[in-house]
Parts: sequence; C-alpha cells; structure tokens
Amino acid sequence: MITVKNLCKEFKNTDGTTTKVLKGINYEISQGEKIVIVGPSGSGKSTFLRCLNLMERPSSGQIIFDGVDITERKVDINKVRERMGMVFQNFNLFNNLTIMQNITLAPVKLGIMSEAEAKEKAKKLLERVNLLDKADVYPISLSGGQKQRIAIVRSLCMNPEVMLFDEPTSALDPEMVGEVLDVMKQLADDGMTMVVVTHEMGFAREVATKVLFMDEGNILEENTPKEFFENPQSKRLQDFLSKVL
Ligand code: ATP
Ligand code: MG
Repeated sequence: MITVKNLCKEFKNTDGTTTKVLKGINYEISQGEKIVIVGPSGSGKSTFLRCLNLMERPSSGQIIFDGVDITERKVDINKVRERMGMVFQNFNLFNNLTIMQNITLAPVKLGIMSEAEAKEKAKKLLERVNLLDKADVYPISLSGGQKQRIAIVRSLCMNPEVMLFDEPTSALDPEMVGEVLDVMKQLADDGMTMVVVTHEMGFAREVATKVLFMDEGNILEENTPKEFFENPQSKRLQDFLSKVL
C-alpha cells in the first residue's frame, strides 16, 4: 500500500549547514498493517510520519502510495492528505468551533460530503467513541482524553485509507491514556492501516504487526513485537528498551 524508497530529509540551518534528519529510509507497509515506531527523542520519528503524508516535503526519495509516487510535483498534496488521517499529541482542535463543527468542517469544505451526510457520519463515529452527547459543546469543556478521541473521529470522518498517529497519548494525564488507546485498538480491529509513534510499549506488543526502532534518521531494527521486545539485536535497541520497559 505504501512503499518508502530511500527517503531523505534534511533541514537547512541558519549558518548554511544542513542537518540530515532522515538518512535513506526504505520500508513497505501493506494494507491493514499496524506499524508502531519507537526510538529516542530526535531520531526522526515525527519527521518520518510528516513526510508520509507530505506535511513535510522529502528532500529526496520516493513514497509510493497505492501505486503513485506522491513525491512527484504534479501530485495534489491535499488529495493525498485526505486519504491519510493524522492525529497529533496536542489534539489541534479548533477551539472556536463546536465538536460537530470540528468534525464536519473539512469533509464539507472539501466537497467530499454534503453537510447532512457529514453530520450523519459524525454522529455514528461519535457514538462509537461514546461522545455523542458532546456534539454541541466546545473543546474547552472536554478532558484531554475526550479531545483526543474527538481528534481521531475528526480524522476518520474523511474516510482515510491510512491513519498516522504521532504520540497521541503523550500529552494526556495517565488515567486518560487507556480510553484513547481503546479507540485506537478498536480501529485496528476494524482493519485500518495504521502507523503509530508511541511510547506505549503495551500497545505496541498487543496491536503492532511490526515494530520499528528509529535511531539517528534510520530504521535500525524492525521485527514482530514478540521478537522486537524479547530478542533485540542491536546494542542501541537493547539500551533503549532497558530504559523504557
Ligand atoms: P521526539 O521523540 O522528541 O518527538 P522525533 O524522533 O519525533 O523526536 P523529530 O521531531 O523528527 O524527532 O526531529 C528529528 C530531528 O530533526 C531533530 O534533531 C530536530 O531538531 C530536527 N528537526 C525537526 N523539524 C525541524 C525543522 N522544521 N527544522 C529544523 N530541524 C528540524
Ligand atoms: Mg516527535
């Protein structure tokens, strides 16, 4: 479904030098897979996710999504993003809009659905995450866990083919992490293709088809969760796991 070929990303520094953040990543994601990415801070996890949906333009390399190289200039970036939902650490809800407006804004504005269709779909999704009673309130009256469940629903309302999550539970109070992970597990069970950056190793063990370890802009190790956690190959992953497990 997604093939990443020799993906590089570098940022220009103010002094004219460049920092290489992704150093030639090759990876293949099949439909229905749940890829969990772990790794130290600054290793390029967020940059990799952001390159996948072109929030960040790769410096070189290819991303083939359903047979099309989406890094080619002629590809409509907005159309790509419609097909890849993204959920961030900090929810990014519009505080001046109600929950229902937050969810229906994009699909209606982009002409994907009529307002009635979008509302209908939003209601079904809200029901699934047990937040239908919050449709007409503003984000400020929600807890962090509720906000993140809404952010997931907002992405899902676009009918994406892939969902990208960048540390979706890192900004939450501990007691709210579970309710968000439960929604993500439900999504995984429904067959969604997912790429998740997270520190929740329990989620990785339980849900991932593959776990990736990123280090200094490369995928240093990739394995099934069982092998990844029980039999890490590199010293760097062994050290990393000894700190987080
Ligand atoms: P964390 O676990 O802290 O979220 P990460 O693995 O997600 O880290 P990235 O955010 O991808 O790491 O950043 C990787 C490196 O790229 C870091 O050194 C960061 O400073 C640098 N970087 C990221 N975005 C930019 C940017 N827009 N301009 C310059 N440097 C950047
Ligand atoms: Mg990050």
